[in-house]
Amino acid sequence: MRAIVIHAPRDIRVEESALADLGPHDVQVRIQAGGICGSDLHYYQHGGFGTVRLQEPMILGHEIAGTVAAVGAAVRSVAAGDLVAVNPSRPCLVCRYCLDGRSNQCLDMRFYGSAMRMPHVQGGFRESLVCTEAQAVRVKPGTEPGLAAFAEPLAVCLHAARQAGPLMGRRVLVTGAGPIGALSVLVARYAGAREVVATDLLDEPLALVRAAGADATVNMRGEPAGLDRFKADKGYFDVVFEASGSEHALIAAFDVARPGAVIVQLGIGSAMTLPMNVLVAKEFNLRGTFRFHEEFALAVDVLAAGTIDVRPLLTATVPMAEAKAAFELAGDRRRAMKVQLAF
Ligand code: ZN
Repeated sequence: MRAIVIHAPRDIRVEESALADLGPHDVQVRIQAGGICGSDLHYYQHGGFGTVRLQEPMILGHEIAGTVAAVGAAVRSVAAGDLVAVNPSRPCLVCRYCLDGRSNQCLDMRFYGSAMRMPHVQGGFRESLVCTEAQAVRVKPGTEPGLAAFAEPLAVCLHAARQAGPLMGRRVLVTGAGPIGALSVLVARYAGAREVVATDLLDEPLALVRAAGADATVNMRGEPAGLDRFKADKGYFDVVFEASGSEHALIAAFDVARPGAVIVQLGIGSAMTLPMNVLVAKEFNLRGTFRFHEEFALAVDVLAAGTIDVRPLLTATVPMAEAKAAFELAGDRRRAMKVQLAF
């Protein structure tokens, strides 16, 4: 079984790797599609992010889908031949947060392809893996594996939308038009937003989010005053999804969000200096959002049904043998939105 292993920044290798034993509650999945995520890119480009650093070789990847090859004796929900999206999140299910229904805050989380703990949790970019039955979520037969592999990032955005509260009839601003921003546009539409505007610093991803359903876009580099028309009467947007991690983007959103607006911070930035006087005076609700929990199954269903159509966001599917080229492409925001590997 071959896997895509990162050893150091820009040093990824396709290597042989052993397959875990199949326990009675486990499922063996032949992986077919794997999406390259921003965090995979951080490991590839910088060896990690923030305080999270690669300390040993690690299989990358957590946006994965494939076909069930074998199941343990006690498995009931899936059978050999089923297409499944693999939930990369493996909470302990016994800590105080898991018992409280907030497994995304688990105290003993094992998340695929993450160097947050030592030894690192190996990821899903491999020809075959063994996961628990709970992780293997059945997908409607006939669905493209590449669509199913969008379940993880879509679940992130569905969870973010839940943090925002009802979106029906709301005016929504999405700052940052990478994959998470683009999926947030689609989720806002799905949830009934009245108007969705997106910003970025590049024209290419903005053209894609317009094609995917945004009403308008603003290139904040080419048109720094492009949001000014939304500043009148203390602001325009009811909800902001900040998906860039940029202090500038969040500050710009403060000027165009209405009093009482909900601002959901999805982008992971480092320290920011914010005009707290504006947050206070406009009574903003600034909220965090982290991963997902029950939204994964919802993501699988809406992808398979086509209710949320992510196909405009898939730039390319690259064979695993060309993993390095795939990562280089995924890192070029002018050319790529979502790049997937084929296994
Ligand atoms: Zn837990």
